[in-house]
Amino acid sequence: MKLEMDKVCPNCGKSRRDVKADKRLGCAFCYTVFSDYIEETLKMTQGTFIHVGMAPKKSEKKERMKNAYFKAKKALKAAVKEEDYEKAYKIKEDIKLIEEQLSAES
Ligand SMILES: [Zn+2]
Repeated sequence: MKLEMDKVCPNCGKSRRDVKADKRLGCAFCYTVFSDYIEETLKMTQGTFIHVGMAPKKSEKKERMKNAYFKAKKALKAAVKEEDYEKAYKIKEDIKLIEEQLSAES
């Protein structure tokens, strides 16, 4: 797969390059955008990504995650419509991650 270093998270504006540089995700939606890269890195380091952003308030963080969740749901619908099931599967995994984050927050 071609590396897309200039891919940017539409929610928080972090680029793949940024994520690679500081190993931090800007928001939950980054999970969706950089999912393949994250998977790869998690396998290599057996660690977890630190989810930070700009230390938003709890409610703000949750709001962002909800935002990411709905975006991912939309993306999933689009992928299914395009019959891109591989992509749909990936997005489903991302949604699961976001759901975990959301339930951990509450
Ligand atoms: Zn992001």
